[in-house]
Amino acid sequence: MAGAPDPSLLDQPVTALPGAGPVTAARLAERGLGSVRDLLAFLPLGYDDFRTRYPLSALATLPDGQTVVVQARVRRVHRFFRRLLDVYLEQDGAELRARWFRPNAGMVKTYAKGNLVALAGTLRRGKDGSLEMVHPRNVTALLAEREALSSQSGLGLRPRYPAVEKVPGRVVEKLVAAAVERAAGLVPDVLPGRVAQGFGFPSIAESLRQVHQPEASLSDEKLAELLVGQAPAQQRLAFEDLFVVQVGLALERARARQATGWRCAVDGEAVLTSARAALPFAPTSAQERAIRTVFADLTSATPMQRLLQGDVGSGKTVVAFAAALLVARAGGQSLLMAPTEVLAEQHGRTLAGWGNKAGLRVAVLHAGLEAQARRRVLASVATGATDLLVGTHALLEESLRVKRLALAIVDEQHRFGVRQRAALRRAGGWIPDEKTGMVPHLLVLSATPIPRTLALTAYGDLELVTLDESPPGRQPVATHLGVGEAARHQALAAVKAAVAAGGQGFVVCPAIVEQKQGGRASVLSRFRELRPLLAPARVGLLHGQMPSRDQEEVVSAFRAGQLDVLVATTVLEVGVDVPRASIIVIEDAERFGLAQLHQLRGRVGRGGQASSCHLLTGGQDPETLDRLAFVAATSDGFSIAEEDLRRRGPGEIYGERQTGVVGLWMRDPAGVVALVERARQEAEALLAEDSELTSSQHAALRQAVEARWLRRRPIAEEAG
Ligand code: ADP
Ligand code: MG
Repeated sequence: MAGAPDPSLLDQPVTALPGAGPVTAARLAERGLGSVRDLLAFLPLGYDDFRTRYPLSALATLPDGQTVVVQARVRRVHRFFRRLLDVYLEQDGAELRARWFRPNAGMVKTYAKGNLVALAGTLRRGKDGSLEMVHPRNVTALLAEREALSSQSGLGLRPRYPAVEKVPGRVVEKLVAAAVERAAGLVPDVLPGRVAQGFGFPSIAESLRQVHQPEASLSDEKLAELLVGQAPAQQRLAFEDLFVVQVGLALERARARQATGWRCAVDGEAVLTSARAALPFAPTSAQERAIRTVFADLTSATPMQRLLQGDVGSGKTVVAFAAALLVARAGGQSLLMAPTEVLAEQHGRTLAGWGNKAGLRVAVLHAGLEAQARRRVLASVATGATDLLVGTHALLEESLRVKRLALAIVDEQHRFGVRQRAALRRAGGWIPDEKTGMVPHLLVLSATPIPRTLALTAYGDLELVTLDESPPGRQPVATHLGVGEAARHQALAAVKAAVAAGGQGFVVCPAIVEQKQGGRASVLSRFRELRPLLAPARVGLLHGQMPSRDQEEVVSAFRAGQLDVLVATTVLEVGVDVPRASIIVIEDAERFGLAQLHQLRGRVGRGGQASSCHLLTGGQDPETLDRLAFVAATSDGFSIAEEDLRRRGPGEIYGERQTGVVGLWMRDPAGVVALVERARQEAEALLAEDSELTSSQHAALRQAVEARWLRRRPIAEEAG
């Protein structure tokens, strides 16, 4: 390419690269890959060693699990109508079977008898002992292209990228390669030189190249490093990710430390007494302990930074209520941010009910409100007539003005990113308050406990208080793991039986839209199917993309007992609190995270009656069954969260995808924890020198931190 490189290429849409049309671009954007920069940050999950092309006769000596490239002629083809395609390759008397499930029509043509094809994949011995590759990649064209370009045979080390729906892996690979070629050199170095040198990291451009396109000449030792995420280039990308987050957290911390909080000069015990009188039950002693701890924070002059952890159903809302009540008695206002409208509505109803008795004025704000209602709410908050405003991320909108914001509460924090947490505190144009310099208190509620080391590093100076006791009369939810159609019918029969006995139930499916292939449960088709099947039970539908008024109507009909069963998406995960619900069926359970399954299960068993949860899956994958069996056997949210973390990585903790870290975590969690610690130390050291990152040396870093923290992005309500 001629001319000076254009740094803006990084922020251009992927259509700026050859090979990306608008349709592909849209599909990539859905996966969060909107710009050239995003493609660079899309790191491989692993690598396939396709450097050697093997003759078929050599395969018999290789172990199962070895990745290989072969090139041979198709000798015969077996096709089992739409279900299975077996292609037998032959070379010098040696044979190899390539097998595809659910082949499409085009594939059959590709593998016509006599065709010369190249396949890349993992070798294994089939049930009958013969050699096979299952779902290998067709690399015929790629190989021809390579060989035309260089004398090298084979395909080198191929990066394996996470799947992007409806975009073939080959296209993803090509686009990332184009991004690396044209734009890797444009990425600014955000690590301070001292830090990069201290670690012996390669430059960012070099790191991106090495991670996306490792040299075919890599030594075995270096390849081994790369495969476990220990290559300096990988470490650099992961570290940089963590570092940017840690610098942002350290900035927040430093600012909060200097700030003055809303000192609530009221008698905590008196407030606790009125809270007790307003509640329809006696608080547990764990709740009272937590309330007293929070009160101590609120009555001091430094802004509270507290994380309240407690398993699903442990009663965290009560603590939030008491905190808002104390603040109101001191003349301040509170915000409570919840991740879904359904939950915001429910909190609004509960808290308004309790608030009525205690003189706490509660209002609700979310995107689903009509213009007039919305204006009324905004006005009441601006004049100070509302004490506690409950809402979704609509609370982060510029138009919100809070007269005396003293306390910000974030419920179900794991559903929000660090950025949104920080933004809530700045909500209402209140922070930074130039006149008073006051910072609202922050209370974060979470049902997903996390190991101490990561909690510290992820939340900075958030102090911890735990609800270690559940309200009385709870029974553990009997959890069954069911595989296949028969199990599904049994589970549905159990729903019918529960309804006949006067209970209510949920059926959860992962996706909203119809999935053409793969036969995944979709909530719409399930709803249509289940309605007649579960009759005479009255079945309602609930998902996050329904207009919010419809969502509310369905939930209140269910709450009022006018519906017996809700067929729903994960919008249920947080919030729906209906004591009569005693059975939950979760379809395609393998598609949910463990902590998520536990949260979903927490929707039942709230009324003290015996309840059950059925985890259904069609898959036979041992790893999947093992995961689900773990949830079925464990009722302790803490162990489940730890297991989830072990399997999924700390991206969950930060509440957003950590590009460089997720893959690394899978391979080396302890190493990541060490990196987080180190990132935190380096961030502190840096701010000790340049407390607001004003030096020109740190301009790129400042930009990265701001991009990470200040961009406002709506939260996805649905998983899967
Ligand atoms: P969490 O948010 O911790 O999952 P919630 O605050 O939604 O839990 O409380 C779960 C259910 O338990 C609610 O129905 C709530 O009214 C009820 N609850 C909370 N505290 C108590 C208590 N001390 N005694 C009886 N029921 C309680
Ligand atoms: Mg809750």
